Amino acid sequence: MASDDSATSGPSAATTVVRFGRPDHTTDNPLNPPVVLASTYVAGGEREYGRYANPTWQAFEDVLGRLESGRALAFASGMAAVHTVLDLVGHGEIVVAPRHCYLGTLAQLADLEQRGRVRARLVDVTDTNAVVKACEDAALLWLESPTNPAMEVADLPALAEGGHAAGATVVVDNTFATPVLQRPLDMGADLVVHSVSKYLAGHSDVVLGALVTRDDSTYDALDTRRRTFGAIPGPFETWLALRGIRTLALRVERAQANATELVRRLEKHPSIEEVRYPGFGAMAAIVLRGADQAEALTHATSMWVNATSLGGVESTFERRRRWAGEPDSIPEGLVRLSVGIEDVEDIWRDLESALDSLS
Ligand SMILES: *Cc1c(COP(=O)(O)O)cnc(C)c1O
Repeated sequence: MASDDSATSGPSAATTVVRFGRPDHTTDNPLNPPVVLASTYVAGGEREYGRYANPTWQAFEDVLGRLESGRALAFASGMAAVHTVLDLVGHGEIVVAPRHCYLGTLAQLADLEQRGRVRARLVDVTDTNAVVKACEDAALLWLESPTNPAMEVADLPALAEGGHAAGATVVVDNTFATPVLQRPLDMGADLVVHSVSKYLAGHSDVVLGALVTRDDSTYDALDTRRRTFGAIPGPFETWLALRGIRTLALRVERAQANATELVRRLEKHPSIEEVRYPGFGAMAAIVLRGADQAEALTHATSMWVNATSLGGVESTFERRRRWAGEPDSIPEGLVRLSVGIEDVEDIWRDLESALDSLS
């Protein structure tokens, strides 16, 4: 469920993204932090070496940490962040994860399981009791909500409580909702994962990841892994993400308004068997009559781009089952929509005429 902005103290997300991660208001200081390109620093301070710390990372982490009300660490990609969390799991321990979630996460889990590193239990996150039951003896409860690409919504506070009662660490991949709409740490989660490549950076030009936690020992464990294994972000990528996150609240507000309106109209279209929308955010899915119709749709628009990934300013879509690893439980005709911030009438006209052209 989306959290209420007014429920937490401190400035709202719209202010936080603009205000923080900047140099002091001292005469002649730039308003924006520079891209600091440094492999090493003069000895004796906290930074020391370019794999340990970077002022441009810190500016971005300051903003994201405040948004999620925790402390953030940036990583080379979302998958590097995912891997860093899964590396915390002890040998042979149990990870409970959604059967529908980001394919790369499922692939990492499958790889770790194949090598005997962890044991995975895949669950339907909409079935709260079943998830809590699956948490027995588990080390980690991995959650994603809304799920990719099924658009299921998990009861995060109830699952965090159930996971903790079983002794599991609770992780939420918050990429789809963004901290503008959902703050998992406030709902009881221990750790938040982001693919910054999506809404946070928001312009389809950066691959970057991040983790956020309030727990100091977890933060230190993650920081140690970043230093040691080296999945560090590039300073320029982090600067682009900081530049992008300045408009996060505006972009999410507009994209969500567009998505809400499109979903309302799509529900009435005769070519569509089902519309899946969690009720918030800018991700949705439509189910057409089979793979051919879905493929035809993704090749029949002029504005909507047939492309993977999501969360950019531009509207994109793709038939998910074109990916070999996508579970059979996702319909062949499902097209996932990442609704952009264009004029809603323009993206509707483009989508509607493509839908009308399907036989
Ligand atoms: C894209 C994505 C990831 C992986 O992030 P990358 O930045 O592509 O490595 C993880 N989780 C979700 C939900 C994603 O959409």
